[in-house]
Order: sequence, then C-alpha cells, then structure tokens
Amino acid sequence: MAASDLINLSGLIDDAKCFALVRQHRWPEGVCCPVCGSSAVIRDGHDDTQPCRQRYRCKTCSGRFDDLTGTVLAGHHQPLRVWVLCLYFMFSLTTFWASTLAARGLVLPRRAAWYAKPAVTFSDALAAVRRQLWTAQAFSTSPNARDMATIPRALLDSLTEAACYPA
Ligand SMILES: [Zn+2]
Repeated sequence: MAASDLINLSGLIDDAKCFALVRQHRWPEGVCCPVCGSSAVIRDGHDDTQPCRQRYRCKTCSGRFDDLTGTVLAGHHQPLRVWVLCLYFMFSLTTFWASTLAARGLVLPRRAAWYAKPAVTFSDALAAVRRQLWTAQAFSTSPNARDMATIPRALLDSLTEAACYPA
C-alpha cells in the first residue's frame, strides 16, 4: 500500500471549527478574561502559527490571552485538530469497548442510597472499561516481587470500584 493511499484524517477536520467548538464550550455566555473574569474583552488578532486561534485583550486588567490560554491544550505544538481527533478516537474506542461489556451485563448504573439512577451513563461505561483494564492480568505490571503484600479480594474489589469513578 502506497502512502498516498492512506487518508490523512487530521486533514479532514477543520481548524476553524475546532477552535469554534473550544470557544463554545469554554465561554457559552461570551468570552471572559481568565485572569479577572471580566467580559469586557476585545479581539486582538490571531496567533502567528495558528491563524484560527483568536487572541483577546481584557479591557479591565489589560491581560492578553487566546482561545487555549489556561487550558490543557495550551502550550502543545500539535494542531488543535489532532487533539480533537485523538479525543474522538478515545471516545469511540471507550464506547465500543463498553458496548461489548454491556452485552455481557458488565455495565451497570452506579447507585447510591440518596441517588437512584435508572439508566447507564457514560460515566458508568467509562468505569466499566477502567475496571476491565485494571483487573485484567494481561496488563499486570507487577513482577513476582518478594515484598508484595496481599490484601483480601473484597478490599481490592472495593478499592478498584472506588477508583473507577473519578471524583
Ligand atoms: Zn482581565
């Protein structure tokens, strides 16, 4: 197979739409300064290397920021569309894996005494995938260490269950 036969998936995703998505989720009520929280913000050009990345200037504190300032996506050299594509594939893989677990009855809604949740949510699906990954012997990284301590199975299961659900 020639390299030209491969599809460059990141090229199918539009940078402008990715940045618009970030802005929509980050500032649903309009752009706010990440330093002082003021909404008195004006546009201040675009990034030199990423033309769809909008810059802003705060009229209250004179701070400068852009679409990604203060986010986990700031400071990375990969284009935003690559991160969006990775997140999409991670979501797709998790959803697919959870569906196979659900077919075996291994995805159940987490219930608490004060919160009766009737249907499975994505959080439950993610927890089921984590549980499967963390308890699978194929992914075990601990060698047969002599200083290994054993704990009761019930305690290990409850610790795994608690860790599967992020706070
Ligand atoms: Zn400000």
